Amino acid sequence: MNDPVAAPATPDSPSYECGVCWSVYDPAEGDLDAGIRPGTPFAELPPYWVCPHCEAPRTRFMVAVA
Ligand SMILES: [Zn+2]
Repeated sequence: MNDPVAAPATPDSPSYECGVCWSVYDPAEGDLDAGIRPGTPFAELPPYWVCPHCEAPRTRFMVAVA
């Protein structure tokens, strides 16, 4: 099993923005509704995670420009 998203976690993980509805995933807040703990980098989100607003797959997300 290869994980193509094997990026190491960094203290300053960027926020990611949904390319469909533009809601933001903030690693500092996580996604409690989906059981994602605060402090979880986007790269470590489980494969089944989808946008909490529009259910777009995580592949539709892109790094948010700070
Ligand atoms: Zn979305």
